[in-house]
Amino acid sequence: MLTNILPEVLSMVMISIMMLHSSKKQEIFAPRSRWFNICLTCSFLNIFLNIIRTYLIYFSDKMPLWFNYLINSLFFASLAVVMVVLTFYLISLIYKRSQWGFIRRISRVAVLIPASVFFVLSLSSPLTHLIFYFDENKMYYQSKFALISVVSLMFCTLVVAVGIIIVRKSLDHNIIDLTIAITVIIIALLFVQYFIPDIILSGTCIAYTNFLLFISFQNKSVNVDHLTGLGNREAFYNSLICYANMHKEFKVVFVGLRGFKNVNDKYGQPAGDDFIVKVAGFLRSTNNNCLLYRFNGVEFVYLLPQISDSDFKGLLDKITERFSHHWKIGYMQCMINISMAEISYPQDVNNGNDLITMVEGALRLSKSRMPQNTTIYLNQEIRNEIFRRNELVDLIKQATVCRNFSLCYQPVFDCNENRFVSAEALIRMSDAKGQLVSPSEFIPIAEEIGSIVNIGWYVIEEVCHFFSTNRNVNINSISINLSQQHFMEPYLINRIVDTLDKYNVEPSKLKLELTERVIEKDTEHMRIVMNLLNKKGIGCYMDDFGTGYSNLFHVINLPFECVKLDKSLIGDFNNNITSDIGRRFLIESLIHSFQFIGTKVIAEGVEQENQVKTIRELGVNMIQSFYFSKPLSEQNLLDFINNEF
Ligand code: C2E
Ligand code: MG
Ligand code: MG
Repeated sequence: MLTNILPEVLSMVMISIMMLHSSKKQEIFAPRSRWFNICLTCSFLNIFLNIIRTYLIYFSDKMPLWFNYLINSLFFASLAVVMVVLTFYLISLIYKRSQWGFIRRISRVAVLIPASVFFVLSLSSPLTHLIFYFDENKMYYQSKFALISVVSLMFCTLVVAVGIIIVRKSLDHNIIDLTIAITVIIIALLFVQYFIPDIILSGTCIAYTNFLLFISFQNKSVNVDHLTGLGNREAFYNSLICYANMHKEFKVVFVGLRGFKNVNDKYGQPAGDDFIVKVAGFLRSTNNNCLLYRFNGVEFVYLLPQISDSDFKGLLDKITERFSHHWKIGYMQCMINISMAEISYPQDVNNGNDLITMVEGALRLSKSRMPQNTTIYLNQEIRNEIFRRNELVDLIKQATVCRNFSLCYQPVFDCNENRFVSAEALIRMSDAKGQLVSPSEFIPIAEEIGSIVNIGWYVIEEVCHFFSTNRNVNINSISINLSQQHFMEPYLINRIVDTLDKYNVEPSKLKLELTERVIEKDTEHMRIVMNLLNKKGIGCYMDDFGTGYSNLFHVINLPFECVKLDKSLIGDFNNNITSDIGRRFLIESLIHSFQFIGTKVIAEGVEQENQVKTIRELGVNMIQSFYFSKPLSEQNLLDFINNEF
């Protein structure tokens, strides 16, 4: 008998170890870990009952019959419960997102129906003998209806399989792998059980299922930040979704340290780590009932279920107050600023999907835009801004895949030749309502999400195509704007040259505009790239000079063919550049200095006639402005250029 129940005993040991591990403070997993603890407890009881009942069946002649009936019916009933709780856990993993709330509920009901029948039949079996019975010799038998246990198991597997098929596109791969692994193990063990009926393996099935769930989702190390011991971003999202799915009220507060790079630079990385640990410890101590996560390097996020307004205010005050003082860690002493964002569920956002969008948006805004030591509250303006950005992210991604952009060209006037000699290619994208979105709005987002590289290649290809279909067009070149990420591309130059070759376009027809932001990051790398480009005959322009640091050193030391003076330098000049002697002198000196080193100067954005007149007097080489022409479609550009002659 001992060998028969050995697998069950081992399974019970395995479950006990997991229970021990899970009984430690598991706040980071929040609701799901509570659910998993229920799975473990039910599994433990079930296996325990199975061992006892096996013993009782062996020695049934020595045991009172009522006791045998009781333990066996409890065992079968607990088996039904275990199937339900484990399947519910899997369902909550599969239909994580709140958009699947309805299907999640239907799936649970579908699992509950056969399992409840099994449960009721099991408990009533001492009277009905529908699942099992003992004959007059106290011999144990299973009835035909015992098959309901297999039917319930199949049903659970089916519900999980259907779920995976429905949400396969948005499902993590590890959930699919896990479910396949569980199914394979169950089938394999059922197979073994069929051929060696004396060995009891149901507990092994249950223990392995729990174990797989444990190592995949409940193991602390998967969800813990090792530096601070707090939950990580993944754990935060899991808890957030669980709470939203449970329709619980909660608040999310984001705390980001600002300018932390200075701490690392000044005191070194290890001291920076100590600082983060200290901050985490402080934040952790602010509220006993909070769930705190390390969202990113120096960003923390609280999840505060059912916190009263006064406690919440107290928490924010405590945090703000602490960060208004110095931090002292070892020999290190410094002040650090923070930015905070706050979201209340369901007052600010009332569904799980928008919640994640809002959380991410608020975090981003509080980092990038808010003054230091302030908190972002989700007012309508912020909400609109976050939704707009998300709309643009979707638009950009879609447009990048479908090449749903268009190009327009703004002619550039040459003051010496008195004609339009070139143009700048400017990208255009429309939103869902067909309204044009300004590139100043969507290009920074495209840079953030990495789509800018594809956009750049689209522009290069279109410009080459333009020259190949309009061989006789009377302009010397077209300039395009490239972002920093392009210059990090390993085969940038070869690919540009290949594209020019493909359309049989001379390299001198293409000019690349780059801003100081691009150069700043790695000036030496840029010098190498620009020299190689120049060797291939492709010229580079410095764009928007006058908006950044306006570092003359960059222009002098890098091989620019042209510098474009930004409209802010000239355009907002009280509409009268002649009256401002200082500015006039500065611009004139700039123009002459650039020309002295062989770099031509283009003035951007001079809209008024008197400004155009003045800037020409100051000796600028070219002008690109609305005064001459707004950006034009390809056909309008051709007409515009042809009409000039
Ligand atoms: P930019 O490269 O400095 O382009 C010139 C911008 O100034 C264009 O705005 C143009 O329409 C505008 N402009 C020209 N003359 C005048 C004028 O007289 N008055 C005023 N007020 N504005 C004038 P646009 O097309 O909205 O582009 C804005 C920025 O978006 C561009 O500034 C460039 O930085 C970026 N951008 C545009 N297309 C691309 C692209 O294909 N790739 C990348 N990476 N950035 C692009
Ligand atoms: Mg430009
Ligand atoms: Mg510009």
